[in-house]
Amino acid sequence: MTRIGIDLGGTAVKTGLFTEDGTIVGRAEFPTVTYGREALLADIADHVRALTALHGIPLSDCAAGIGVPGPVEEDGYTEAIPNLGIHNCYLGRELSELLGIPVRILNDANAAALGEYWLGAGRGSKSMICVTLGTGVGSGIVLNGQVLGGAHGLGGEIGHMFVNPDETQACGCGATGCLDQVASANGVVRYARTRYHLPYVTAKEVCDAAKSGDPQAEAALRYCMSFLGKALCAVGYTVDPELVVIGGGLSKAGPYLLDIIYYAYKDLPKLTAKRMEFRLAQLGNEAGMTGAARFAL
Ligand SMILES: [Zn+2]
Repeated sequence: MTRIGIDLGGTAVKTGLFTEDGTIVGRAEFPTVTYGREALLADIADHVRALTALHGIPLSDCAAGIGVPGPVEEDGYTEAIPNLGIHNCYLGRELSELLGIPVRILNDANAAALGEYWLGAGRGSKSMICVTLGTGVGSGIVLNGQVLGGAHGLGGEIGHMFVNPDETQACGCGATGCLDQVASANGVVRYARTRYHLPYVTAKEVCDAAKSGDPQAEAALRYCMSFLGKALCAVGYTVDPELVVIGGGLSKAGPYLLDIIYYAYKDLPKLTAKRMEFRLAQLGNEAGMTGAARFAL
């Protein structure tokens, strides 16, 4: 059986073909069709057929997983994928009907977590949380090989935990004071500019300045990551994973950033001296399609 992993993003769709044990045998990337659900699914189905044909793999020997940027309930129901204007549907089921093969659907951050667990930084661990620091804060939890989807599709979604009572602006989700607003790459830039009056326009610039000794850039980064440290402490007290994997654009700052996040977390838990282990993600932007492929079977 060949696994097909599909990562549906707001601007691009990534697909990969994997053997059952996780060797990648083919991949494709194409722009996301944004003018309606039917056209989008038809386009994905066409690309999947072309990719399997290209590698001489009969579609009937495949099973697919698809990661989508929105909450997914246990039965595959999606209430909303705001970025794509998709509402109230069973996308996996519809794609399954188009392709004539089994298709399982999950949230994209959960897919990334499962990908890292299967073939990336989480290999060999029993439980982990994967946090992606990009435009927003995405996260997913894997416990004993199973993604924690939750009853309402919100399992492991720490980005919209309330962490900051001083926040005045509203988050994209409608709430105010979310982790997403302060610990994402966008959040880092916003705080560096507004709280510390720094001129930087990208999170990379903030990280580079901090690394090269700019005390204000470092303070901005430590301030933003202090909220992530608190959120991770809360995760420790709820699901207590073995491992924290940090990915996303901001994680390109490498061990330097990992140390700042670990420092923000390490003194918070008091009930035990044991600590979660922190690692950098390894699969980059292929984590999502990899995890979707794992979820397929
Ligand atoms: Zn929010």
